[in-house]
Amino acid sequence: MRRVPEADSAGHRLLARSNDKAGRSGIIAGHYTLSTKDGRFRQLFREAVRRPPESIPRITSVRSVALSNRPTKTTVGLTRYSNLKFLVVFSRPRQTITFYSSLFDALSDGAAIAVIAHELAHAWLNEHVRPEESRSRELEADRLAREWGFGAELKALDKEAETVNE
Ligand SMILES: [Zn+2]
Repeated sequence: MRRVPEADSAGHRLLARSNDKAGRSGIIAGHYTLSTKDGRFRQLFREAVRRPPESIPRITSVRSVALSNRPTKTTVGLTRYSNLKFLVVFSRPRQTITFYSSLFDALSDGAAIAVIAHELAHAWLNEHVRPEESRSRELEADRLAREWGFGAELKALDKEAETVNE
């Protein structure tokens, strides 16, 4: 049984800081907003974000992570990459990761963590290799997530994915 984290008093938005005082920095460095009031999602996300080895270069371009209630039939998670072209000099890539609760809620904790790891891998590849369309590098994202130690979770997701994708 998981304990529900402290209530999000702001209701919807929570400012997350990955470099916490305990020194357990997650794979995402810097500030990003974690937009959800779903305690299970927040807990699973924090678990996943802290799992990749410390030696992995951090992801610095993620600004927003959200759990959307928008209905969707096939997508569990989506990573969007955008470069702010109007800021030519100061432009830095920004990434938004969105998860969809209608499908996410149907997954076990392990499979849900696999989805999070997969999206984190997309964000990492966008920043450290090169940006691509979100759908074009599925196998590579899975391979990277496996390298980070999410092999068991990815297997769980494989088992549950057919149900979810129908
Ligand atoms: Zn993907």
